[in-house]
Amino acid sequence: MSAPSAAKLPPFDPRDPLGLDDLLAPEDLAIRDTVRAWAADRVLPHIAEWYERGEVPVLRELARELGALGALGMSLTGYGCAGATAVQYGLACLELEAADSGIRSLVSVQGSLAMYAIHRYGFEEQKQRWLPGMAAGETIGCFGLTEPDHGSDPAGMRTYAKRDGADWVLNGRKMWITNGSLAGVAVVWARTDDADGGSGGIRGFLVPAGTPGFTAPDIKHKWSLRASVTSELVLDDVRLPADAVLPGAVGLRGPLSCLSHARYGIVWGSMGAARAGFEAALRYATSREQFGRPIGGFQLTQAKLADMAVELHKGILLAHHLGRRMDAGRLRAEQVSFGKLNNVREAIEICRTARTVLGANGISLEYPVMRHATNLESVLTYEGTVEMHQLVLGKALTGLDAFR
Ligand SMILES: Cc1cc2nc3c(=O)[nH]c(=O)nc-3n(C[C@H](O)[C@H](O)[C@H](O)COP(=O)(O)OP(=O)(O)OC[C@H]3O[C@@H](n4cnc5c(N)ncnc54)[C@H](O)[C@@H]3O)c2cc1C
Repeated sequence: MSAPSAAKLPPFDPRDPLGLDDLLAPEDLAIRDTVRAWAADRVLPHIAEWYERGEVPVLRELARELGALGALGMSLTGYGCAGATAVQYGLACLELEAADSGIRSLVSVQGSLAMYAIHRYGFEEQKQRWLPGMAAGETIGCFGLTEPDHGSDPAGMRTYAKRDGADWVLNGRKMWITNGSLAGVAVVWARTDDADGGSGGIRGFLVPAGTPGFTAPDIKHKWSLRASVTSELVLDDVRLPADAVLPGAVGLRGPLSCLSHARYGIVWGSMGAARAGFEAALRYATSREQFGRPIGGFQLTQAKLADMAVELHKGILLAHHLGRRMDAGRLRAEQVSFGKLNNVREAIEICRTARTVLGANGISLEYPVMRHATNLESVLTYEGTVEMHQLVLGKALTGLDAFR
């Protein structure tokens, strides 16, 4: 078979050098373009100011708009959720994170952690009560697993739920909780005496905001994810009725399955931040002149741009592959770890390299690269640190557990 002549080939597109759009169906492209246009209109014009202030004054409004777009609990079905494919959900994460990781975090925590937990592990009345309002962005959810002394190793958590008659009484503290003070409902994971001790006793509870003894003070002085609310959850003799517990989740497997779903969104989302960094560097390299010519004309800058483009589009291809496996019901948690480990690590590297291409301007909020790079420091840590995903893969590869 002879090779087609160059004239018959589609032109090289610097935004899509591998032609990955060919993998997408028309409805995938339509969803992607809708989310991209929303972010360009509602987030990008204001994000630098919000980031500098460390506050998004219209966050609740944005949540309702994201609900109207179908982006909240997007891949869930029923209860007002869009029932999108995993690939479509991933594309939305990518477009949102190309605007800012904080906005994508709002959507991930809402849909993949809080709503997913209720959808998968709740009983019908819990789903009816919470999910439609959450899908619409009227009610925001958060997911409290991490504690001040238990991050990578949540099995050691101290938050405790004790039976008192038919009620449950919760005491403890959660730390670094996205959406905490915004949330109308908190999914809180606590140790119980159910089951036979160990992590088998960990259960999920739905804690409505305003329940006596429950507060969510915000964590200040963050230098990353500044356009996202991060809070503590303080539980001081919080009394909940018997029907506040998620019946389907017993043991750490419950929260870990939610995290796997959210991590999948990060595999895509991180490539959005990387794309924004790469595109800023490419634009800058073709307009900024030094030594009498555009800096993009120097081989050293071209090497940076070529390496960034290779890692960016390899990462998108990997995300797409994992999305197809998820849609086929064949995605393993180790494969999600593979994607999160690679894509977040490469995204931060791309943004750091983009920062160098922009020289001094790279550190300014006038350009997006430093904002994305500092956001990615959080993304590198939450939903399992780099080291945790290396240990997950290490165990899968060798059959040897090196966690402790
Ligand atoms: C902005 C932000 C938002 C967050 N949102 C949420 C949220 O909504 N809900 C929630 O529950 N949590 C949330 N988190 C918490 C996040 O999931 C934890 O920070 C993360 O799991 C790591 O825990 P840690 O910070 O306690 O670090 P630690 O677990 O103390 O780890 C510190 C370092 O030690 C390493 N380490 C630990 N154990 C080992 C080991 N066995 N071998 C090698 N290295 C090891 C880690 O990889 C890391 O580098 C958020 C965090 C941030 C920064």
